[in-house]
Amino acid sequence: MVELKNIKKSFGDHVVLKDINFSVGKNEVVVIMGPSGSGKSTLLRCITFLEEPDGGKVKLGEFNLQAGLPLNKERKNMIRALRQNTGFVFQQFNLFSHRTALENVMEGPIVIKKMDRQKAKENAIELLSKVGLADKMDHYPAQLSGGQQQRVAIARALSMKPMVMLYDEPTSALDPELVREVLLVMKELAKEGMTMIVVTHERGFARDVADRVVFMEDGLVVEEGSPEKMFGSPVKERTREFLQDVG
Ligand code: ADP
Ligand code: MG
Repeated sequence: MVELKNIKKSFGDHVVLKDINFSVGKNEVVVIMGPSGSGKSTLLRCITFLEEPDGGKVKLGEFNLQAGLPLNKERKNMIRALRQNTGFVFQQFNLFSHRTALENVMEGPIVIKKMDRQKAKENAIELLSKVGLADKMDHYPAQLSGGQQQRVAIARALSMKPMVMLYDEPTSALDPELVREVLLVMKELAKEGMTMIVVTHERGFARDVADRVVFMEDGLVVEEGSPEKMFGSPVKERTREFLQDVG
């Protein structure tokens, strides 16, 4: 479903992604872990060309984009296709503050997919119910808790029927008691077969939900494998130091 080949990215002379290769199959849940500054966010952003990689190739389903070529009309369309087929959930929920939960979820399909308003509304209601917010549809973001806002953000991302969901530390900005409700929604989606890439420090989630854990450091994938292997008996010394269960 997603394939990254030789992705490289620098900011000035700071090399942030050295040579990233990995792929995610349909229905697969991949959790990316690693120290702060290792390039996890940059990697997610490169998948949708929110950051254009300096080199390498991104493939999403039938869409294919080689980095580092001049931007022509065809490439612009391809970048648009990549973004429209990817649901992005950020640490900071990034909702439209002057729109209700319902309006936030309706917006994408109406504006981008030119969906009929009534149909967009029905879809949005269904998605908000799915994330447990049927009774909060008419609330504005400021009237919702962080956990509720993040669930709206997930519903909003789903409204575009993405081929893959990308989550960048979706619970890191939340008070501890609100983390669980967001992880539960994500787990439910995973069970339904959503393909997802999740950057998170939540080991419990990785252990329960991930098909594969990828450990990144200094712009490289150090090691990847099943949660059992990665937490239980990682091969690389660094993975062991960072991930292995102690005690
Ligand atoms: P992570 O998400 O793993 O914490 P990031 O991908 O956010 O890591 O960042 C990796 C490195 O790239 C950091 O050193 C960060 O300061 C740098 N970086 C990220 N985005 C930019 C940017 N737009 N301009 C300059 N440096 C950046
Ligand atoms: Mg980050």
